[in-house]
Amino acid sequence: MDCREEKTVAFVGLGSNLADPVMQIEQARSAINALDKVEEVAFSSLYRSPPMGPSNQPDYTNAVIKVVTGLPALILLRALQKIENVQGRLRTGERWGPRTLDLDLLLFGEQCIRVPDLVVPHPGLAERAFVIYPLVEIDDTAQVPGLGSIAQLALDCPLSGLVKMT
Ligand code: ATP
Ligand code: CA
Ligand code: CA
Repeated sequence: MDCREEKTVAFVGLGSNLADPVMQIEQARSAINALDKVEEVAFSSLYRSPPMGPSNQPDYTNAVIKVVTGLPALILLRALQKIENVQGRLRTGERWGPRTLDLDLLLFGEQCIRVPDLVVPHPGLAERAFVIYPLVEIDDTAQVPGLGSIAQLALDCPLSGLVKMT
């Protein structure tokens, strides 16, 4: 990475409930690590969570990765969407339907972003145990702009069926 460029700490949530979710998450981790100007800082344990939205779908496997990046947020989002597509993500139009891979940009430094394709912090963050618990596991000092510390959010968030996988 060019030492003159601006680096940002970012957190990305990974989720999968189709086609061998553990393998999907591992493959996505490798793909994120292979991105130019993106370096892994930490990777959470894997967690299992009941599906949001339609309940006639398998449980999800979730994790959170912390990276440092020289990419702008929107370019990072595009790269993450490309990884989703490579791993067979189909966009059926069903909200929160089953998917091989979902990569959500959770936090991008201290930035609040609100453009048509990207809202950061991720809008669901404060209510989602499957995001908050893996994130606090890898960085219990993280701050969520507008919402306070991730540690406090974890204290306020019920587990809602989230289980840490061994
Ligand atoms: P949710 O965003 O509630 O978790 P989802 O992950 O199922 O739902 P997707 O179908 O994966 O939603 O994404 C829909 C759109 O959300 C994408 O086209 C993307 O442009 C937009 N989006 C807005 N903010 C973000 C973000 N922080 N991370 C990822 N996608 C985002
Ligand atoms: Ca999502
Ligand atoms: Ca998504």
